[in-house]
Amino acid sequence: MRRLAIIGNWKMHTTPTSAKALALQLREHLKDVTQADLGICPPALSIPAVAEALRGSNISWGAQNAHWERDGAFTGELSVDALQELGCTYVIVGHSERRHVFGESDDMIAKRLARVAESGLLPILCVGEKEAERQESRTEEVLERQLTKGLAYVEKPPGLIAYEPVWAIGTGKRAEISDVEEAHRFIREKLQARFGSHASEVRILYGGSLKPENIEDLALSQEFDGGLVGGASLSAPSFAELIARAIKRRNH
Ligand code: PEP
Repeated sequence: MRRLAIIGNWKMHTTPTSAKALALQLREHLKDVTQADLGICPPALSIPAVAEALRGSNISWGAQNAHWERDGAFTGELSVDALQELGCTYVIVGHSERRHVFGESDDMIAKRLARVAESGLLPILCVGEKEAERQESRTEEVLERQLTKGLAYVEKPPGLIAYEPVWAIGTGKRAEISDVEEAHRFIREKLQARFGSHASEVRILYGGSLKPENIEDLALSQEFDGGLVGGASLSAPSFAELIARAIKRRNH
């Protein structure tokens, strides 16, 4: 079984001051966790404050995006070199809000992912269908396209892929276990076809309205290697409870 990875995505929530306070609370709540890789991706402006709070702990930190060029005229973008200097471990790439609110194309995402992977940071490639696409039975077609195009410029698969159905993100409506397992299996098959035995090293996370109350059936599944958690990662007790329940079920 692959080691669990549970990563919080704070989106555009927190300022440096509140991010540091929350990170310190998380550090305390999660200090005894050894059976999962833990991470937090705060807004970019809060990364230094979070790094200060988490340095030397069992929680890593990361960013929510990164640009493919080393530096240059790219107003508003995040440089991989800067993220490395801030001690980041993870970079989320292709989050549904980047794709659907900010119009990032599969090719932009592929370039971001390749640059992050080449740097040694760990990209978390997010893929997932919209509600209408699911209703039209196009989930696999969308996942296949996002994977094929998103991984076009890498020789090895990324360490982490998050299956995040768009309709489940921030809606309180977690996907059914059968849908998650089916999607994760499909993603693994596609990775196997492209990368052979390296595919088994990839951790496939689920994201979309994960909470302490709905993590347990997923954590029992062989297809579930962890979670990308938005809302529930903004409260230290709730994130800690979600992690504790996932580990408990995993060891069942
Ligand atoms: C996310 O931001 O990737 C996410 C899954 O959010 P939430 O847990 O709030 O649905």
